[in-house]
Amino acid sequence: MSGAEETIQALREALRFSPENMPLRKHLAETLLNAGRAEDAEREYREALAGEPDNLDLKLGLARAFDRQGKSSHALVIVEELAKRFDSPPRAALLYARLLANSGDLANAAAQYRKAVEADPSLADSELALRLDLRPSGAPSNSFEDSLSEEVDGRVRQSWDDPGGEAGVEIERPVVAFKDVGGMEASKEEIRIKIILPLSHPELYKAYGKTAGGGILLYGPPGCGKTHLARATAGEIHAGFLSVGISDILDMWIGNSEKNLHMLFEQARANKPCVLFFDEVDALAARRSDLRGSSGARQLVNQFLAETDGLEGSNDGILILAATNAPWHLDSAFRRPGRFDRILFIPPPDLAARASILRILCRDKPTKDIDFEHLAKKTEHFSGADLKAVVDVAIEDKLREALKSGVPKPLSTKDLAASASTLRPSTREWFSTARNYALYLNQDGSYDDVRKYLKM
Ligand code: ATP
Repeated sequence: MSGAEETIQALREALRFSPENMPLRKHLAETLLNAGRAEDAEREYREALAGEPDNLDLKLGLARAFDRQGKSSHALVIVEELAKRFDSPPRAALLYARLLANSGDLANAAAQYRKAVEADPSLADSELALRLDLRPSGAPSNSFEDSLSEEVDGRVRQSWDDPGGEAGVEIERPVVAFKDVGGMEASKEEIRIKIILPLSHPELYKAYGKTAGGGILLYGPPGCGKTHLARATAGEIHAGFLSVGISDILDMWIGNSEKNLHMLFEQARANKPCVLFFDEVDALAARRSDLRGSSGARQLVNQFLAETDGLEGSNDGILILAATNAPWHLDSAFRRPGRFDRILFIPPPDLAARASILRILCRDKPTKDIDFEHLAKKTEHFSGADLKAVVDVAIEDKLREALKSGVPKPLSTKDLAASASTLRPSTREWFSTARNYALYLNQDGSYDDVRKYLKM
């Protein structure tokens, strides 16, 4: 009998006396898996999970056992669920990456691979990295041409040269692009014309006397894809993505905030092309009125305006996007030409967009004959984030069912419809506020799109 077989037998023997000993059963399952007995390992992992249904290592073990037996879709359901948890073992992301790569979804596979290796560098797998066409991270590009010839770069973290030792904001290399954003065709077109084309064809724009520059402000109800669209803009042109919450700047960097705001722009300038995304930009203006008389806050706003004023010169190659749920709090100074002179309303997705978003959200999930149009009809007023919740809840239910019965089944229209019926759209509240502004404060036509949407 081989050493492994002996160990297995000894472990089985021990378990006969203490069948409730989960660490022991886990050890047996791992030993079985390592000995190539995936089917037996699967049985032990299931048994152990019955006692500890929330144990992430056991779930990962079960996924590995499925994977070894070629039951990829079973494995996929588990690792996908694990990937959503912040405390998921990095190995789960690695397995997820491999499974996605096998299914041909290289973009998401690359994202998962990077996540795994960032959390645990010892998981680096040069063969998989090669398949995913990933370069070693930490090689930022300097020119637009460079980055266009790049496939997917790693995530780059840089530190500012800050005496306080404050770390810089992480620069992402998003793998999502416009194809991953459902609906929003008009907004994508506007972004293309206003900021992407000037960046890729500066000569052409100059020839027609048009200068590049100016930012785009996205506004609308929460969860309708403003951040997603901004991230996809960066992914669309293989640019870096720097995302900053304005309240972070205000809260974390008190006393040093102007300098850090400047460093942030410098960081973007050093990493061109780059999308610099300011979330909750209204906080800047709101805070300014709250803190009237506080010279620090006023200076910060001025610093922000000074940095964005430079859009045509030193900011070449930087695309500035900002988002807010409360545009009415925004200072009109932000809307001057050269700043956020283009304002886009991002409404809740319409029927076609909802079907398209649901299709995108279910793209890599095990599904069977889903009627997306039917589901779109059932989810009126749902935001993109609400639709994501519909899919997440349905998957969770499915997973629970699968863990109980031991037979993972694909998601169906019925599952998603059931999950949708338990959730309420989150966009209504926003419109009840927006309606008042659109009614009473629309002198300059800023809220014409909201009025159109509300058929006012
Ligand atoms: P908030 O105002 O709360 O910051 P937001 O408008 O920035 O919200 P996002 O964070 O971009 O909304 O959207 C939430 C999630 O919903 C996204 O991560 C994405 O998964 C999904 N989502 C939203 N809109 C779309 C879309 N058009 N296509 C695909 N997914 C979408």
